[in-house]
Amino acid sequence: MNTQETMKAIVLHDLASWSVDDVPVPPVPDGGMLIRVQACGLCGSDLRTIRSGHENVTLPWILGHEICGNVVALGTGFTGPWKIGRRLSIGPNVYDPTDPYVADGRHELSANVREIAQQWPGALSEYVAIPEESIVMGNILPVPAGMPDEHAAVVEPASSVIHAHERAGTTIGDTVLIMGSGPVGCLHVAVARARGADKVFMSDIVASRLELAEAFSPDAVIDATRESVAKRVAGLTNGIGPTVVVTANPSPQAPVDAVQMVARGGRVVLFGGLPHDNSKPGIDVNTVHYRNINLIGLSRFAPRHFRMSLQMLASGRIPGEKLVTRVLPLNQANEGIRSALEGRELKVVFKP
Ligand SMILES: [Zn+2]
Repeated sequence: MNTQETMKAIVLHDLASWSVDDVPVPPVPDGGMLIRVQACGLCGSDLRTIRSGHENVTLPWILGHEICGNVVALGTGFTGPWKIGRRLSIGPNVYDPTDPYVADGRHELSANVREIAQQWPGALSEYVAIPEESIVMGNILPVPAGMPDEHAAVVEPASSVIHAHERAGTTIGDTVLIMGSGPVGCLHVAVARARGADKVFMSDIVASRLELAEAFSPDAVIDATRESVAKRVAGLTNGIGPTVVVTANPSPQAPVDAVQMVARGGRVVLFGGLPHDNSKPGIDVNTVHYRNINLIGLSRFAPRHFRMSLQMLASGRIPGEKLVTRVLPLNQANEGIRSALEGRELKVVFKP
């Protein structure tokens, strides 16, 4: 690939300010690959960076870390197993092999994970360079034939959700409340069901988001602005409360409420991070203590979760066609980003 050539990319110039620009095609990194992007998902974290920036990102910048694409060139000294033409699902995380947690196979606990679209430019563009570090210590998997590009792009967000239910031990007989009905909340419904949960409920404060989430067929959708979520879930669980509650939203009130609603001996998964200046919400520790509640902190994932996520999307256990509600070309960046920012779509995926 000649580096004089240009490509289209969505460039974030300033907070809430982007355009589709002609930029140079990135050179093929030594030991890495050049990928023709087939599909790139727009993530909640991308939306956060567009709104309020990111500590690891200096603008202008190309975002996009949920990647499906074809190998078009291999760098000098490439040692990976993939050949030109191979279609791959590429996760952003690049682990540090010298981290003792990584050496232990507990990649999700590593504090120094680097990411494509943070330390290296992202894939909301026609081509993306995948660095050697990602070939050696990243999450890259071949995409099964017949799996749509836009489903292979959204393996990353589902990986953390799979990790969450592994930690919570969600299984047959569980009643699960998901607080938050965005795309991540919907993934929680699919994964909790796949693990055998008896009932899965969803709550949110935005009626239009709950409507979008109905595609995932939760057993009850609860509009928290119209009724008490606590009363409703108590009624739905014979007064016991859900055995698993997942906070899939950034509200500081969610963990407080989750602890009050969860069944005795239940598990609360703290999935959603809180605003940095409002992250000490005042959970009733005596409730946690006397009711033997398990609080589970959850972020990131390991390569095995990425692998399971691709399997679940390929098999339809995670219904990609319900999750990805909008597929757009790069030149419709405005419509795609706005509709996601305004919560009019679950998952927006760009196909350059
Ligand atoms: Zn993501």
